[in-house]
Amino acid sequence: MKTETPTISEIISYMEYATDTEKAQVEDAYYFSEKVHSGHTRYSGEPYFTHPATVALYLSEMGMDSHTIIAGLLHDSIEDVGVTAEEIQGKYGADVYNMVEGVTKLGHVRYHGVERHAESLRKLFAATAHDVRVILIKLADRLHNARTLQFVPDHKRSRIALETLEVYSPIADRLGMSVMKKDLEDAAFPYAYPDSYTKVRDIFAQKTKESEEKVEKLEKVLAKMLALGGIRKFRTSSRIKGLYSLYLKLKRKEWDVEAIHDIIAIRIIVEDVAACYQALGVVHGTWRPLPGKLKDYVSFPKPNGYQSIHTTVHAGDVGVIEIQIRTEEMHKRAELGLAAHLSYKETSTKRGKEGTSMQWVEQFFPGRKQLVATPIKPHYKGQSIPEWIRSIADVHTETHESTHDEYIDDLKSDFFTHRIFIFTPKGDVIDLPINATPIDFAYTIHSDVGNHIAGARVNGKLVSIEEPLHNGSIVEIITKESAKPKKKWMEIVKTTMARKHIKTALQKEEGILPTPPKPPERKRPQIRAQNKKK
Ligand code: MN
Repeated sequence: MKTETPTISEIISYMEYATDTEKAQVEDAYYFSEKVHSGHTRYSGEPYFTHPATVALYLSEMGMDSHTIIAGLLHDSIEDVGVTAEEIQGKYGADVYNMVEGVTKLGHVRYHGVERHAESLRKLFAATAHDVRVILIKLADRLHNARTLQFVPDHKRSRIALETLEVYSPIADRLGMSVMKKDLEDAAFPYAYPDSYTKVRDIFAQKTKESEEKVEKLEKVLAKMLALGGIRKFRTSSRIKGLYSLYLKLKRKEWDVEAIHDIIAIRIIVEDVAACYQALGVVHGTWRPLPGKLKDYVSFPKPNGYQSIHTTVHAGDVGVIEIQIRTEEMHKRAELGLAAHLSYKETSTKRGKEGTSMQWVEQFFPGRKQLVATPIKPHYKGQSIPEWIRSIADVHTETHESTHDEYIDDLKSDFFTHRIFIFTPKGDVIDLPINATPIDFAYTIHSDVGNHIAGARVNGKLVSIEEPLHNGSIVEIITKESAKPKKKWMEIVKTTMARKHIKTALQKEEGILPTPPKPPERKRPQIRAQNKKK
């Protein structure tokens, strides 16, 4: 199978909102890139230019601005063919150059040589912290590379595939980009775990063959019931689970296929939030819901911005099936995530029509509420950086304590594993790695809360602070002035932040750190005095 080189008109066809000058610049960059890459080929034997052109096409399809598309066209030109910084700056400006440079440095990541890999990731996050569009170019780059893995030599292939699953698809997930995540996973899965892939593919084929027809029938019944229920504007569709995500779920369920009800799910897309709940009423009125399966991410969005109502019902001869209900806007954001927010399309049309539509952006752009009022152009730089990206870049570039191995481990454990969402008693959502404890939760709120945690109430019940938390729990932390961190917590906690604070507190306690010159006799009475006041 050969892939075709996208044409310039294909790329431009998605740039509905760009000016003629912007389109002309993209066209210029297209031919410039074709020229500088000429004579080079990919493993597939195709002209190398196929790659940057496809990356540009992906970016254009996502609705990105002309500068990002140009940077996509040029992303391999500095490193691979020696185009100079001056040339790019001169022709396309500093904005484009900075993005190209940001991607270039991490161009050739090697897994062997952990140091190089860690350095490249560091740079990726540092570059992204300056300009969030860099990560989108990198993901588009990786997607095309993952999709052409069949041509890559064996020894490189599985490394690239694994890295895609362990690093890049979790980044896409964290940015709410579900389509990108699924595409990356499904491209890499066969080469990362060939045996499991075959097994899952067979299970999948078996399951979907059985149900596709039935699901179609069910959709028709559903459409009728929704119309009878007075819902005026809606559409339904079915979505099929990605093979890699099915694989992860099968592993969690000990390979019991019958325990998985969302290989095929039905989506109902409606006009507004009120209609979501109205549709839920129709669904539950028609088919009996499974208890405990209703999840309302409309009222309580996931930290990556995902919104939808999920419910699982017994639907006649189809059996048990998941139904997802959302608005058109929620749907688009669920599919494109961060890209939807940076896209011209979203920013130049009516934004914030729905009360909730901007909440997701605001959590990423703290203190930037005026974004809602300035619908002309998205902000790519400075403050408009997801806080978690900034924090990875900051923590790990400023303190050189952590070794390269630790850096990658931290990334994997903190940001790239499954997450659980915990609620504060006030209803704020805190996003933690799986198996995080009340201790982690406390340190996420504030280091003082962590350093003085004495107990925890989970869903109203007192529990051990060392016990893993479960998704969706409401957690209340009980503090005491006299409480202090224990050494064994280092082994128990799951977040790097908690571990760091505990280490610091323990070192202070043991007098290893040069603590502020206070005699210890004076410190204790002070604490007691504070305690008494309470
Ligand atoms: Mn590339």
